[in-house]
Amino acid sequence: MIRLHRLALPPELAEQLRDRTKRLREKQAVGSAARTDWKAAKGIRGQLTHHLTEMATGIRRCMYCGDGLGTDIDHFEPLAEAPLRAFDWLNHLLACSHCNSHQKRESFPRDEDGTTLLVDPSAEDPYEHLELADRVLRGREVVDALADPALHLWS
Ligand SMILES: [Zn+2]
Repeated sequence: MIRLHRLALPPELAEQLRDRTKRLREKQAVGSAARTDWKAAKGIRGQLTHHLTEMATGIRRCMYCGDGLGTDIDHFEPLAEAPLRAFDWLNHLLACSHCNSHQKRESFPRDEDGTTLLVDPSAEDPYEHLELADRVLRGREVVDALADPALHLWS
């Protein structure tokens, strides 16, 4: 995982995202409704994938592991917890299917103050949270909320 710089979206796409968010807010969408709207927005998802790919390192690399092919748009803050962030550009990261479906899934651990314990490489420098030891990236602090403290991806 390395630091990434989030690109600005074209105004038309940014407007589409605002409209979608407004609609979710108006119907007080919960996670399942947000997921339904998200899945139905194929055109928007395609455009977002294009822009996330431009931000990714190498050839469309996963923004978490940096190894797998980024095939999925991950909601950094999961839809179950933040349905109104379904169409929030700042909540989108490109992930490989392994990271999205088997590692992160719906997890979003927080400390007692409510601060997220996951690293968003587009918002902060992973180097501040991860260290390389014995050829494995480890969190600089072990996170009790995660079952496996030796996870390569999460601090
Ligand atoms: Zn990955």
